[in-house]
Amino acid sequence: MHTITLIPGDGIGPEISEAMRRVVESTGVKIEWDVQEAGADVMDKYGTPLPDHVLDSIKKNKVAIKGPITTPIGSGFRSVNVALRKELDLYVNLRPAYSLKGVKSRYEDIDLIIVRENTEDLYAGIEFEQGSKEANELIEFLKTRGARMRFEDAGISIKPISISGSERIVKFAYEYARREGRKKVTAVHKANIMKYSDGLFLRVSREVGERYPDIETEDRIVDNMCMQLVQKPELYDVIVCPNLYGDIISDLCSGLIGGLGMAPGANIGEEHAVFEPVHGSAPKYAGLNKVNPSALILTSVLMLKHIGEREAADRIFKATSEVIAEGKHVTYDLGGTAGTSQMADAIIDKILS
Ligand code: NAD
Repeated sequence: MHTITLIPGDGIGPEISEAMRRVVESTGVKIEWDVQEAGADVMDKYGTPLPDHVLDSIKKNKVAIKGPITTPIGSGFRSVNVALRKELDLYVNLRPAYSLKGVKSRYEDIDLIIVRENTEDLYAGIEFEQGSKEANELIEFLKTRGARMRFEDAGISIKPISISGSERIVKFAYEYARREGRKKVTAVHKANIMKYSDGLFLRVSREVGERYPDIETEDRIVDNMCMQLVQKPELYDVIVCPNLYGDIISDLCSGLIGGLGMAPGANIGEEHAVFEPVHGSAPKYAGLNKVNPSALILTSVLMLKHIGEREAADRIFKATSEVIAEGKHVTYDLGGTAGTSQMADAIIDKILS
Protein backbone atom coordinates (compact mmCIF):
# COMPACT_ATOMS: atom_id res chain seq x y z
CA MET A 1 0.00 0.00 0.00
CA HIS A 2 1.30 3.46 -0.93
CA THR A 3 0.11 6.58 0.84
CA ILE A 4 0.17 9.56 -1.51
CA THR A 5 -0.77 13.17 -0.87
CA LEU A 6 -3.41 14.33 -3.33
CA ILE A 7 -3.88 18.08 -3.73
CA PRO A 8 -6.85 18.54 -6.09
CA GLY A 9 -6.11 22.27 -6.56
CA ASP A 10 -8.66 24.77 -7.86
CA GLY A 11 -10.21 25.83 -11.19
CA ILE A 12 -10.28 22.67 -13.31
CA GLY A 13 -8.08 20.91 -10.70
CA PRO A 14 -10.81 19.01 -8.79
CA GLU A 15 -12.46 17.53 -11.89
CA ILE A 16 -9.22 16.36 -13.54
CA SER A 17 -7.98 15.04 -10.16
CA GLU A 18 -11.12 12.97 -9.79
CA ALA A 19 -10.67 11.61 -13.33
CA MET A 20 -7.01 10.75 -12.62
CA ARG A 21 -7.84 9.11 -9.31
CA ARG A 22 -10.49 6.85 -10.87
CA VAL A 23 -8.10 5.86 -13.68
CA VAL A 24 -5.28 5.02 -11.24
CA GLU A 25 -7.62 3.03 -8.99
CA SER A 26 -8.95 1.03 -11.94
CA THR A 27 -5.52 -0.62 -12.31
CA GLY A 28 -5.93 -2.18 -8.87
CA VAL A 29 -2.77 -0.51 -7.55
CA LYS A 30 -3.12 -0.03 -3.80
CA ILE A 31 -3.02 3.66 -2.97
CA GLU A 32 -4.36 5.47 0.05
CA TRP A 33 -4.92 9.12 -0.92
CA ASP A 34 -4.14 11.70 1.74
CA VAL A 35 -6.30 14.50 0.31
CA GLN A 36 -5.09 18.02 1.16
CA GLU A 37 -6.45 21.40 0.12
CA ALA A 38 -4.19 24.33 -0.80
CA GLY A 39 -4.64 27.62 -2.66
CA ALA A 40 -6.86 30.68 -2.46
CA ASP A 41 -9.82 28.70 -1.08
CA VAL A 42 -8.03 27.83 2.19
CA MET A 43 -6.58 31.32 2.64
CA ASP A 44 -9.42 32.57 4.87
CA LYS A 45 -9.33 29.51 7.10
CA TYR A 46 -5.57 29.19 7.61
CA GLY A 47 -4.21 32.64 6.66
CA THR A 48 -1.92 31.08 4.06
CA PRO A 49 -2.50 29.32 0.74
CA LEU A 50 -0.03 26.61 1.77
CA PRO A 51 -0.82 25.54 5.35
CA ASP A 52 1.82 23.64 7.33
CA HIS A 53 -0.28 20.49 7.51
CA VAL A 54 -0.18 20.22 3.69
CA LEU A 55 3.60 20.44 3.68
CA ASP A 56 3.78 17.99 6.59
CA SER A 57 1.65 15.51 4.65
CA ILE A 58 4.07 15.60 1.69
CA LYS A 59 7.07 15.40 4.01
CA LYS A 60 5.58 12.30 5.62
CA ASN A 61 4.38 10.58 2.44
CA LYS A 62 7.35 11.70 0.28
CA VAL A 63 5.17 11.68 -2.84
CA ALA A 64 2.32 13.99 -3.89
CA ILE A 65 0.25 14.52 -7.00
CA LYS A 66 -1.52 17.81 -7.51
CA GLY A 67 -3.92 19.61 -9.78
CA PRO A 68 -3.17 23.20 -10.76
CA ILE A 69 -3.57 26.09 -8.32
CA THR A 70 -4.46 29.62 -9.38
CA THR A 71 -1.98 32.39 -8.58
CA PRO A 72 -3.93 35.67 -8.62
CA ILE A 73 -1.86 38.30 -10.41
CA GLY A 74 -0.59 41.25 -8.38
CA SER A 75 -2.35 40.29 -5.12
CA GLY A 76 0.74 39.64 -3.03
CA PHE A 77 -0.46 36.02 -2.87
CA ARG A 78 2.63 33.85 -3.05
CA SER A 79 2.48 31.11 -5.67
CA VAL A 80 1.76 27.81 -3.91
CA ASN A 81 3.54 26.02 -6.73
CA VAL A 82 6.73 28.01 -6.34
CA ALA A 83 6.50 27.78 -2.51
CA LEU A 84 6.19 23.98 -2.63
CA ARG A 85 9.24 23.68 -4.86
CA LYS A 86 11.22 25.90 -2.51
CA GLU A 87 10.08 24.43 0.81
CA LEU A 88 10.75 20.86 -0.29
CA ASP A 89 13.82 21.73 -2.37
CA LEU A 90 12.30 20.08 -5.44
CA TYR A 91 15.14 21.16 -7.67
CA VAL A 92 14.17 19.18 -10.76
CA ASN A 93 11.24 20.01 -12.97
CA LEU A 94 10.93 17.11 -15.39
CA ARG A 95 8.72 17.70 -18.40
CA PRO A 96 8.56 14.99 -21.04
CA ALA A 97 7.06 16.01 -24.39
CA TYR A 98 6.08 13.20 -26.76
CA SER A 99 3.71 12.91 -29.70
CA LEU A 100 0.67 10.69 -29.34
CA LYS A 101 -1.23 9.40 -32.34
CA GLY A 102 -4.56 11.17 -32.70
CA VAL A 103 -3.41 14.49 -31.28
CA LYS A 104 -3.52 17.18 -33.94
CA SER A 105 -0.16 18.83 -34.20
CA ARG A 106 2.14 20.24 -36.84
CA TYR A 107 4.74 17.70 -35.77
CA GLU A 108 4.99 13.92 -35.49
CA ASP A 109 7.35 11.72 -33.51
CA ILE A 110 8.37 14.31 -30.95
CA ASP A 111 10.18 12.65 -28.07
CA LEU A 112 11.91 15.17 -25.84
CA ILE A 113 12.70 15.36 -22.14
CA ILE A 114 13.05 18.80 -20.65
CA VAL A 115 14.92 18.93 -17.35
CA ARG A 116 14.38 22.38 -15.86
CA GLU A 117 16.23 23.71 -12.81
CA ASN A 118 13.57 24.66 -10.30
CA THR A 119 15.10 26.73 -7.49
CA GLU A 120 17.50 29.37 -8.83
CA ASP A 121 17.78 31.90 -11.60
CA LEU A 122 15.27 34.75 -11.88
CA TYR A 123 12.79 32.63 -9.92
CA ALA A 124 14.88 32.87 -6.74
CA GLY A 125 12.50 35.63 -5.61
CA ILE A 126 15.25 38.19 -5.02
CA GLU A 127 13.53 41.28 -6.34
CA PHE A 128 13.57 44.99 -5.57
CA GLU A 129 10.60 47.16 -6.41
CA GLN A 130 11.19 50.26 -8.51
CA GLY A 131 11.47 53.33 -6.26
CA SER A 132 11.92 51.33 -3.04
CA LYS A 133 14.65 52.22 -0.58
CA GLU A 134 16.31 48.84 -1.24
CA ALA A 135 16.27 49.30 -5.03
CA ASN A 136 17.78 52.76 -4.71
CA GLU A 137 20.45 51.54 -2.29
CA LEU A 138 21.32 48.71 -4.63
CA ILE A 139 21.60 51.10 -7.58
CA GLU A 140 23.89 53.36 -5.53
CA PHE A 141 26.01 50.37 -4.50
CA LEU A 142 26.24 49.18 -8.10
CA LYS A 143 27.45 52.63 -9.14
CA THR A 144 30.31 52.38 -6.66
CA ARG A 145 31.27 49.13 -8.42
CA GLY A 146 31.30 50.74 -11.86
CA ALA A 147 27.95 49.26 -12.95
CA ARG A 148 26.01 51.98 -14.72
CA MET A 149 22.35 51.64 -15.58
CA ARG A 150 20.87 53.42 -18.58
CA PHE A 151 17.86 54.52 -16.51
CA GLU A 152 17.76 54.47 -12.74
CA ASP A 153 13.97 54.24 -12.38
CA ALA A 154 14.21 50.48 -12.63
CA GLY A 155 12.84 47.49 -10.76
CA ILE A 156 15.48 44.83 -10.26
CA SER A 157 15.34 41.02 -10.29
CA ILE A 158 18.49 39.12 -9.42
CA LYS A 159 19.60 36.04 -11.33
CA PRO A 160 21.68 33.74 -9.13
CA ILE A 161 23.06 30.58 -10.77
CA SER A 162 25.39 28.54 -8.58
CA ILE A 163 27.88 25.73 -9.10
CA SER A 164 26.00 23.53 -6.61
CA GLY A 165 22.59 24.21 -8.17
CA SER A 166 23.86 23.69 -11.72
CA GLU A 167 25.82 20.57 -10.85
CA ARG A 168 22.87 18.76 -9.27
CA ILE A 169 20.43 19.54 -12.09
CA VAL A 170 22.86 18.60 -14.85
CA LYS A 171 23.79 15.42 -13.00
CA PHE A 172 20.10 14.54 -12.74
CA ALA A 173 19.74 15.00 -16.52
CA TYR A 174 22.62 12.62 -17.25
CA GLU A 175 21.49 10.03 -14.70
CA TYR A 176 18.00 10.19 -16.19
CA ALA A 177 19.42 9.81 -19.72
CA ARG A 178 21.41 6.76 -18.65
CA ARG A 179 18.49 5.14 -16.79
CA GLU A 180 16.03 5.68 -19.62
CA GLY A 181 18.39 4.69 -22.44
CA ARG A 182 18.66 8.19 -23.89
CA LYS A 183 21.62 9.18 -26.08
CA LYS A 184 22.26 12.89 -25.71
CA VAL A 185 22.02 15.80 -23.27
CA THR A 186 21.85 19.37 -24.58
CA ALA A 187 22.51 22.22 -22.14
CA VAL A 188 20.73 25.51 -22.88
CA HIS A 189 22.17 28.91 -21.94
CA LYS A 190 22.92 32.46 -23.00
CA ALA A 191 26.55 32.36 -21.91
CA ASN A 192 27.66 34.78 -24.61
CA ILE A 193 25.75 37.57 -22.83
CA MET A 194 25.48 36.47 -19.18
CA LYS A 195 29.01 35.26 -18.64
CA TYR A 196 28.91 34.82 -14.88
CA SER A 197 25.50 33.14 -14.50
CA ASP A 198 24.80 31.28 -17.75
CA GLY A 199 28.53 31.01 -18.38
CA LEU A 200 28.87 29.17 -15.09
CA PHE A 201 25.95 26.89 -15.98
CA LEU A 202 27.61 26.06 -19.30
CA ARG A 203 31.00 25.36 -17.71
CA VAL A 204 29.46 23.08 -15.08
CA SER A 205 27.37 21.23 -17.68
CA ARG A 206 30.46 20.51 -19.73
CA GLU A 207 32.34 19.30 -16.66
CA VAL A 208 29.49 17.01 -15.60
CA GLY A 209 29.09 15.80 -19.19
CA GLU A 210 32.71 14.60 -19.22
CA ARG A 211 31.80 12.16 -16.44
CA TYR A 212 29.27 10.46 -18.74
CA PRO A 213 31.26 9.38 -21.81
CA ASP A 214 28.42 7.04 -22.86
CA ILE A 215 26.07 10.02 -23.37
CA GLU A 216 26.66 12.66 -26.02
CA THR A 217 27.07 16.19 -24.65
CA GLU A 218 26.27 19.41 -26.49
CA ASP A 219 25.00 22.90 -25.79
CA ARG A 220 22.90 25.53 -27.51
CA ILE A 221 22.28 29.22 -26.99
CA VAL A 222 18.66 29.60 -25.97
CA ASP A 223 17.45 31.67 -28.92
CA ASN A 224 19.01 29.29 -31.41
CA MET A 225 17.54 26.39 -29.41
CA CYS A 226 14.02 27.78 -29.83
CA MET A 227 14.45 28.04 -33.58
CA GLN A 228 15.99 24.58 -33.84
CA LEU A 229 13.20 23.01 -31.78
CA VAL A 230 10.66 24.45 -34.18
CA GLN A 231 12.62 23.45 -37.30
CA LYS A 232 14.39 20.22 -36.33
CA PRO A 233 13.05 18.85 -33.04
CA GLU A 234 14.22 15.35 -34.00
CA LEU A 235 17.83 16.43 -33.38
CA TYR A 236 17.22 16.67 -29.62
CA ASP A 237 16.79 14.18 -26.81
CA VAL A 238 17.27 15.31 -23.18
CA ILE A 239 17.45 19.10 -22.74
CA VAL A 240 18.73 20.60 -19.50
CA CYS A 241 18.02 24.27 -18.74
CA PRO A 242 18.27 26.89 -16.03
CA ASN A 243 14.89 27.83 -14.59
CA LEU A 244 13.58 30.57 -16.89
CA TYR A 245 14.68 29.04 -20.22
CA GLY A 246 13.31 25.71 -19.00
CA ASP A 247 9.92 27.26 -18.34
CA ILE A 248 9.73 28.78 -21.81
CA ILE A 249 11.21 25.84 -23.70
CA SER A 250 8.91 23.34 -22.01
CA ASP A 251 5.84 25.34 -23.06
CA LEU A 252 7.28 25.54 -26.57
CA CYS A 253 7.62 21.74 -26.51
CA SER A 254 4.03 21.39 -25.24
CA GLY A 255 3.09 23.30 -28.39
CA LEU A 256 5.01 20.79 -30.52
CA ILE A 257 2.93 17.92 -29.15
CA GLY A 258 -0.47 19.52 -29.51
CA GLY A 259 -1.02 21.66 -26.47
CA LEU A 260 -1.05 21.94 -22.73
CA GLY A 261 -3.82 19.38 -22.28
CA MET A 262 -1.27 16.66 -23.06
CA ALA A 263 1.80 17.73 -21.06
CA PRO A 264 2.73 15.89 -17.84
CA GLY A 265 5.32 17.04 -15.29
CA ALA A 266 7.14 16.23 -12.08
CA ASN A 267 9.01 18.22 -9.43
CA ILE A 268 11.66 16.05 -7.86
CA GLY A 269 14.09 16.54 -4.97
CA GLU A 270 16.44 14.25 -3.05
CA GLU A 271 13.67 13.18 -0.69
CA HIS A 272 10.31 14.26 -2.06
CA ALA A 273 8.49 14.42 -5.37
CA VAL A 274 5.42 16.40 -6.36
CA PHE A 275 3.82 15.43 -9.66
CA GLU A 276 1.73 17.99 -11.56
CA PRO A 277 0.76 18.73 -15.14
CA VAL A 278 2.37 21.65 -16.98
CA HIS A 279 -0.95 23.44 -17.52
CA GLY A 280 -2.66 25.79 -15.08
CA SER A 281 -6.13 25.99 -13.56
CA ALA A 282 -7.88 27.30 -16.73
CA PRO A 283 -10.51 29.11 -14.57
CA LYS A 284 -12.86 29.78 -17.49
CA TYR A 285 -13.47 26.03 -17.84
CA ALA A 286 -13.81 25.27 -14.12
CA GLY A 287 -16.72 23.00 -13.18
CA LEU A 288 -17.82 22.47 -16.80
CA ASN A 289 -16.61 18.86 -17.15
CA LYS A 290 -14.99 19.99 -20.37
CA VAL A 291 -11.19 19.96 -20.18
CA ASN A 292 -8.79 17.22 -21.11
CA PRO A 293 -7.71 15.08 -18.13
CA SER A 294 -4.80 13.51 -20.11
CA ALA A 295 -2.03 15.74 -18.77
CA LEU A 296 -2.80 14.81 -15.17
CA ILE A 297 -3.42 11.16 -16.09
CA LEU A 298 -0.04 11.05 -17.89
CA THR A 299 1.42 12.78 -14.83
CA SER A 300 0.12 9.86 -12.74
CA VAL A 301 2.08 7.57 -15.09
CA LEU A 302 5.28 9.39 -14.09
CA MET A 303 4.26 9.12 -10.44
CA LEU A 304 3.52 5.39 -10.64
CA LYS A 305 6.91 4.74 -12.23
CA HIS A 306 8.53 6.78 -9.47
CA ILE A 307 6.95 4.58 -6.78
CA GLY A 308 7.89 1.40 -8.62
CA GLU A 309 4.44 0.59 -10.05
CA ARG A 310 5.67 0.24 -13.64
CA GLU A 311 3.01 -2.21 -14.75
CA ALA A 312 0.11 0.01 -13.67
CA ALA A 313 1.92 2.96 -15.29
CA ASP A 314 2.29 1.10 -18.60
CA ARG A 315 -1.37 0.05 -18.59
CA ILE A 316 -2.55 3.62 -18.04
CA PHE A 317 -0.21 4.96 -20.72
CA LYS A 318 -1.38 2.35 -23.24
CA ALA A 319 -5.08 2.87 -22.48
CA THR A 320 -4.79 6.67 -22.67
CA SER A 321 -2.85 6.51 -25.97
CA GLU A 322 -5.46 4.17 -27.45
CA VAL A 323 -8.41 6.33 -26.42
CA ILE A 324 -6.71 9.36 -27.94
CA ALA A 325 -5.73 7.51 -31.13
CA GLU A 326 -9.30 6.24 -31.64
CA GLY A 327 -10.62 9.78 -31.12
CA LYS A 328 -14.15 8.68 -30.16
CA HIS A 329 -14.20 9.64 -26.49
CA VAL A 330 -11.95 12.66 -26.36
CA THR A 331 -12.38 16.25 -25.17
CA TYR A 332 -12.87 19.37 -27.26
CA ASP A 333 -9.17 20.21 -27.56
CA LEU A 334 -8.61 16.83 -29.24
CA GLY A 335 -11.49 17.43 -31.63
CA GLY A 336 -14.09 15.43 -29.70
CA THR A 337 -17.22 16.12 -27.69
CA ALA A 338 -16.60 13.95 -24.60
CA GLY A 339 -16.48 15.56 -21.19
CA THR A 340 -13.61 15.13 -18.71
CA SER A 341 -15.31 12.26 -16.87
CA GLN A 342 -16.44 10.49 -20.08
CA MET A 343 -12.87 10.49 -21.37
CA ALA A 344 -11.72 9.03 -18.05
CA ASP A 345 -14.47 6.37 -18.32
CA ALA A 346 -13.22 5.38 -21.78
CA ILE A 347 -9.65 5.04 -20.46
CA ILE A 348 -10.91 2.93 -17.53
CA ASP A 349 -12.88 0.67 -19.94
CA LYS A 350 -9.64 0.03 -21.86
CA ILE A 351 -7.71 -0.71 -18.68
CA LEU A 352 -10.36 -3.20 -17.55
CA SER A 353 -10.86 -4.86 -20.97
P1 NAD B 1 -3.76 27.57 -18.17
O1 NAD B 1 -2.83 26.43 -18.47
O2 NAD B 1 -4.58 27.45 -16.95
O3 NAD B 1 -4.75 27.75 -19.37
C1 NAD B 1 -4.45 28.30 -20.63
C2 NAD B 1 -5.39 27.70 -21.68
O4 NAD B 1 -4.87 26.42 -22.05
C3 NAD B 1 -6.80 27.43 -21.20
O5 NAD B 1 -7.61 28.55 -21.30
C4 NAD B 1 -7.21 26.32 -22.12
O6 NAD B 1 -7.59 26.84 -23.36
C5 NAD B 1 -5.94 25.53 -22.29
N1 NAD B 1 -5.84 24.41 -21.34
C6 NAD B 1 -5.14 24.32 -20.20
N2 NAD B 1 -5.31 23.13 -19.62
C7 NAD B 1 -6.13 22.44 -20.41
C8 NAD B 1 -6.69 21.12 -20.36
N3 NAD B 1 -6.42 20.28 -19.35
N4 NAD B 1 -7.52 20.73 -21.34
C9 NAD B 1 -7.80 21.53 -22.37
N5 NAD B 1 -7.32 22.78 -22.49
C10 NAD B 1 -6.48 23.24 -21.51
O7 NAD B 1 -2.86 28.88 -18.15
P2 NAD B 1 -3.20 30.35 -17.60
O8 NAD B 1 -4.55 30.76 -18.07
O9 NAD B 1 -2.00 31.13 -17.96
O10 NAD B 1 -3.20 30.21 -16.02
C11 NAD B 1 -4.37 30.11 -15.23
C12 NAD B 1 -3.96 30.02 -13.76
O11 NAD B 1 -3.25 28.81 -13.52
C13 NAD B 1 -3.04 31.15 -13.30
O12 NAD B 1 -3.49 31.58 -12.05
C14 NAD B 1 -1.70 30.50 -13.18
O13 NAD B 1 -0.90 31.10 -12.21
C15 NAD B 1 -2.07 29.11 -12.77
N6 NAD B 1 -1.03 28.10 -13.10
C16 NAD B 1 -0.84 27.14 -12.18
C17 NAD B 1 0.08 26.13 -12.45
C18 NAD B 1 0.29 25.07 -11.43
O14 NAD B 1 -0.54 24.90 -10.54
N7 NAD B 1 1.37 24.34 -11.49
C19 NAD B 1 0.78 26.10 -13.67
C20 NAD B 1 0.51 27.11 -14.61
C21 NAD B 1 -0.39 28.12 -14.32
